[in-house]
Amino acid sequence: MLETSRPEVAFGLDVVSRASRLARRIQAEMASSAIEKADRSPVTVADFCVQALVGWHVDRSWPDLPLVAEESSQSLRRAESAAVQEGIVRFLRLELPEVDLEAACRWIDRGGGEPEGRFWVLDPIDGTKGFLRGDQYAVALALVEDGKVRVGFLGCPRWTLPGEDRERGSLLAAVGGGGAWWAPLEGERKWRPLQVSSRTHPSEIRFLRSFESEHIDVGQLERLMQRLGVEREPERMDSQAKYGQLACGAADLLLRVPSPQRPDRREWIWDHAAGSLLVEEAGGQVTDVEGKSLDFSAGRRLNRNFGVLVSNGHLHRTVLEVLHELAAP
Ligand code: AMP
Ligand code: MG
Repeated sequence: MLETSRPEVAFGLDVVSRASRLARRIQAEMASSAIEKADRSPVTVADFCVQALVGWHVDRSWPDLPLVAEESSQSLRRAESAAVQEGIVRFLRLELPEVDLEAACRWIDRGGGEPEGRFWVLDPIDGTKGFLRGDQYAVALALVEDGKVRVGFLGCPRWTLPGEDRERGSLLAAVGGGGAWWAPLEGERKWRPLQVSSRTHPSEIRFLRSFESEHIDVGQLERLMQRLGVEREPERMDSQAKYGQLACGAADLLLRVPSPQRPDRREWIWDHAAGSLLVEEAGGQVTDVEGKSLDFSAGRRLNRNFGVLVSNGHLHRTVLEVLHELAAP
């Protein structure tokens, strides 16, 4: 069973479910205004609200631990952000009734911690572009210790397991050595263990890729699929919901290599911390494209890794070999 009595697990579940529900509400109430005016963007309001909320909870429950998160209040404090400021205070008060703008900025900046030793890491809204499109996004929180992810949580309001009611969304939890788990975000919380697929035949293999083509090297993905003999089109999905899709066995492979326009780009730790543990605990494998484990002790980015390969485990070595061949001059 999921060890819900462990303090870091109880904390992660509570905070990520609160934050995900808040994000869902912001998406529902603000979606139409976003397109007209970037300044009122609901993703901005949701990013800041979620980060402030998590910052507040981390500060109260884990006063000694850093929080490393994507946003800072700098852009928010500028005068032209008045509409966003108003939105943040309005939505954040649903969870923290006393909050004002100064306090919100303070809680957002609680996320400016150093990624050293033991720390929480947060992507308040992973899949910004999906959030705006009305597609997939995730609230992603993880606890890292000595460069390894110890527990991880994803709140995915628009994603669920095959056969489940998508309206109820998903809460996903992973505990190092304690499994990967799913429960609906809304309604009775009955936990189910997650298990990756066992598909290996090229005719069956299901690839996942980012929805946004500029986030990845599409050519490299196509070459890999061709060499493996995979015919099925990859499923396009935003955010770490992809890790959920792999952990539950609905997909088998995910390759993320920086686009050729930005070969020096390294991945943010918050884009992979929670999701990678989820897949590993479901029996899958996560490395960079050279086969190295992801190293979460190298700053706010995965500076010691290039690209990310996620698989059901069975296919991992074969894919690494093909990637190696493809990289050879
Ligand atoms: P995905 O939903 O798979 O497209 O991944 C979303 C993440 O991609 C965001 O959280 C960003 O950190 C990251 N991202 C944003 N722009 C880029 C880019 N140009 N190349 C690679 N990743 C990016
Ligand atoms: Mg992200």
